[in-house]
Amino acid sequence: MIYYKNQEQIEKIRASSLLVGRTHAEVVKAIKPGVTTAKLDHLAETFIRDHGAIPGFKGYQGFPATLCISVNEQVVHGIPGDREIGDADVVSIDCGTILEGYYGDSAYTYAMANVPEDTQNLLQATKESLYLGIDQAWHGHRMGDIGHAIQQHVEAKGFSVVRDLVGHGLGKKLHEEPEVYHFGKPGRGIPLSQGLVICIEPMINQGKRFVMQERDGWTFRTADRMPSAHFEHAVAIRKDQPADVLSSFEEIEKAIAQNSDLLKI
Ligand code: MG
Ligand code: MG
Repeated sequence: MIYYKNQEQIEKIRASSLLVGRTHAEVVKAIKPGVTTAKLDHLAETFIRDHGAIPGFKGYQGFPATLCISVNEQVVHGIPGDREIGDADVVSIDCGTILEGYYGDSAYTYAMANVPEDTQNLLQATKESLYLGIDQAWHGHRMGDIGHAIQQHVEAKGFSVVRDLVGHGLGKKLHEEPEVYHFGKPGRGIPLSQGLVICIEPMINQGKRFVMQERDGWTFRTADRMPSAHFEHAVAIRKDQPADVLSSFEEIEKAIAQNSDLLKI
C-alpha cells in the first residue's frame, strides 16, 4: 500500500528531514581523528531530543542507537561504539528523526583529510548520482528512470551499485512502500505520482557490488572490503515540477567547510 501525501503531510516530513540535516551538521563539528562513533551518536541524540523530536532509528526493529555510522568497507547500519575515527576513514552517517509523528531520513558520507583520491572520487560520484536520480523523480516517470540514472553514472566511473539494500517511501513510518531501486531500466517499474515521498539513497561500492552482513545482525559491509559511500535525500514527487527535496545538505556542507579534518566532497 502506497500512501500519497498531501502538502500538509509533506511539510511535516520536510520539518523532520531538515532537523536531520541540522543534526548531521552538529555531528560534523565533532568529527575528528580519535573521536569515537559512540560520542557522535550521543551528540546526535541530545541534539534531536533538545529540538523536540525523537531519534527515528533508536529501537527501530531493535536498533540500539540514534545514528547508523558505517566506516570504510561498512556500507550501512553500522552500530556506534568505541571505534575511533581515523584520519583516512570514510564515515557514512545515516540519521532519522520523528517530529510530530513524521519521519525524516537523510545520509551523508564524510571523508577525513587523508582519504585517497580514488575514494574521494567514489564519494563524489555517489553524491552526483543521487542528484541525477532526483532529476528523474517526476510525476509521470517510472521508478526505473531513477535507478537507471544512478546506475549509469556510477558504473561509467567503474563503481558498482549495491542491490541488496534499497530506498523506500517515507511518512508516518520509516520504511513505507514503494522500494526505491538504485539500478534499473528506463520506463520500467511503478509510475511516480504527485504526493509520493521517497528516500533515494544510493549505496555505491568502490569495488564489486556484493555485500554481506556482520555477525552483529546489523552492519552490512562490502564482500571485497573495498570502501562504500551512501548519500540520501527525502523527496516529494510533484506534477510539472522537479521533485521537492525535503532534506538538505546545506547546513552539513557549511559545517564541513569549517572543519579542517574533513574534505569537501
Ligand atoms: Mg537513512
Ligand atoms: Mg532511508
